[in-house]
Formats: sequence, structure tokens, C-alpha cells
Amino acid sequence: MSKRDYYDVLGVNRDASEDDIKKAYRKLAMKYHPDRNPDSKDAEEKFKEVKEAYEMLSDAQKRSAYDQFGHAGVDPNAGARGGGAGFGDFSDAFSDIFGDIFGGGRGGGGGGRSNVYRGADLRYNLEISLEEAARGCERQIRIPSHDNCDVCNGTGAKPGTQPKTCSTCGGHGQVRMSQGFFSIQQTCPTCHGSGKEISDPCVKCRGAGQVKTSKTLNVKIPAGVDEGDRIRLSGEGEPGQNGGPAGDLYVVTHIKPHAVFQRDGRDLHCEMPVSFTTAALGGEVEIPTLDGVVKVKIAPETQTGRKYRVRGKGIKAIRGSEYGDLMCHIVVETPVNLTERQRELLQEFEAISQGDSAKHNPRAKSFMDKLKDFFA
Ligand SMILES: [Zn+2]
Ligand SMILES: [Zn+2]
Repeated sequence: MSKRDYYDVLGVNRDASEDDIKKAYRKLAMKYHPDRNPDSKDAEEKFKEVKEAYEMLSDAQKRSAYDQFGHAGVDPNAGARGGGAGFGDFSDAFSDIFGDIFGGGRGGGGGGRSNVYRGADLRYNLEISLEEAARGCERQIRIPSHDNCDVCNGTGAKPGTQPKTCSTCGGHGQVRMSQGFFSIQQTCPTCHGSGKEISDPCVKCRGAGQVKTSKTLNVKIPAGVDEGDRIRLSGEGEPGQNGGPAGDLYVVTHIKPHAVFQRDGRDLHCEMPVSFTTAALGGEVEIPTLDGVVKVKIAPETQTGRKYRVRGKGIKAIRGSEYGDLMCHIVVETPVNLTERQRELLQEFEAISQGDSAKHNPRAKSFMDKLKDFFA
């Protein structure tokens, strides 16, 4: 079957919203509608193609299957095999304009057989760790693909038998259907467009001529990739039709949440708890980075929320060689599980600080002052 990429058919981006898809569909369906293009075979084909693309992309489940596996993931003929045009089951968002008379069903088939089409692009979601994203990595992925059946060599006919010319369409793959005041050309319901009829189908592929397999690809993930980045593997998408080029495979990276670091572009952020004595007196703390621990000097009288920047300990830019920074957010930890002696010392500390709280705890003081203003 000749197929164009559904997104290309509708002229929308791969991240188009449901609404964008609906709008694009309405516009194109109006343009190519058989009523407006009487006797134009080309418009008729386009109309069916557009309709099929919309049916697939407007259904969230089908869309996600298509995004991952391309045309191999969705079967527009499902449920309509042998059922001919399937008039009457047309109940999508478009029926309010044209009614169900145009419900060409799912028999789209798409495109004339002599046309050359580029294969559809495929998408593969790859989850990697933050470390892998920072350093780059190599992964093997398996993706579904089609291969000619080795039993029948791709003919679909049982070895020793030959496919015959389809008796319904005479080998054209298309039939004209009259419905009401116009007639449209449709994919032949008997041979589904191949023009051949297989009376004795191959047992392995059940007449399809192709079997589902998978292929393994090596993907090089460059250092610095971020959430949602796309790596294009040229020509690894679906095969083209009638000599058309293959589509591309897009590997989309997803970064797993990290236990210590949050990422913001090239910078990393982490929370750094320090004891309240270190925060008050100053000192040195060890800060984790993606490649080992570094020592950072904490200034005396450091407050929660203070940030320390460790230069060059972030993530490398995907292009170029610059590294981002690591931002450490200080959190002062209140001590717990106090011993009797610790409690004594703190009480003593409190006693000698009293009367001078404005000096030692200016924030608490100014907060209390604001409260007083508020209630005054
Ligand atoms: Zn036929
Ligand atoms: Zn076979």
C-alpha cells in the first residue's frame, strides 16, 4: 500500500494539538471534497487520504501507536475488510458538515499505485538517566519492521501457486462506487488495492507477503541531550513506496528523575543540608557533582536559601564544549535527637542572646515588627 505520512497529509507538525488537527482536516476536506471537484480523481484521492489521516490522528490511541510504529502501528482497514465502502458508520467531528453520505469508511487505502511516496517517519521514546544524558551514551533499540515473507518470497501465495488477477477490479486495485448523485473511486474491497487475488494464501504470512519482524539499531546519544530532544536516524523509518525514499526514525530522549540533581538546561541544582553550627560558624562542606565530590567553603552566618555556584560542574552544551554550573541551595538543618548536654548548651546560648534578639535574629525581629504594624 502506498502511504504518505499522516502529519504531512494534514500539513501539521508532529506535536499539533487535537484542535490544530481538526482545523487542518476541515480545511483540506473542504478543498478536496468530491462535491467541489467533480471528476477530479486527484482531489478524490486526496480527500480520502486526508480523511484517513484525520481518523488516525484524531484518535489519541491510534495517534500514539502511529507515532511509535508508523503505519505498521495502525491499520486503517481494520474492521472494514470485505465490508466494502462502509457507508453509514461515519460519526466523527465532520459529519455535521457533510452528513454521513460521504462516510467512505475506513477503506481509504490512500494514493494511486503508480505514485512514489516517501516512507513515514517513526518515533521512538528512549528513557535515559541524567548521567547518561550528561556524558552521552550508546544504546541499542529494537524497532518493529516488515520483511518479505521467506516462505512465499513476498508474493503472499502458497509456494507452488500464483496470485491471480483480482476478478472484482480486473487488476486495477480500485473500483467505482455510486452513491446517490456522485460516484467515487475506492480501493477494491476484494484485493485491498493490490490488484491480485490469492486463492491459496501462504500459511506463514496469511497472504500478506510480509511478516512483522524487528530490527536492532545502535543509537549514539550525544553528551548534553535534554528532555524531548530528537535524534534523527536518517532512512530508518518506514520504507518508501514504489521507489520512494524511506522515512526517518526519530529517537526522542526522556530523562529519568534524579535522586540528587534537578536539571535546568545546562545547569544542575541540588539541595545541600548543612548543620546549623556550620551555617552559623562557617566551614567546609562536601558537595556531590556528577563526577565526584567537591569541597565548598560555607561563609559564617549562612542562611537557608543561599546559593553556592560551583562553576563548570553542570552539563556540557550539546554543541560546543562549554559546561553549565552546579547550583547548591543551602538548607540549614535544625538539630534533632538532642542530648541533655546539647540542650543545656542551647539553653545557655538562648539565655545570653536574650535582650539582643534584634542583633542576632534580625529577620525574626523585622517580622515581629511587621506583625505589630499590622495589628496596630
Ligand atoms: Zn481487486
Ligand atoms: Zn508468505
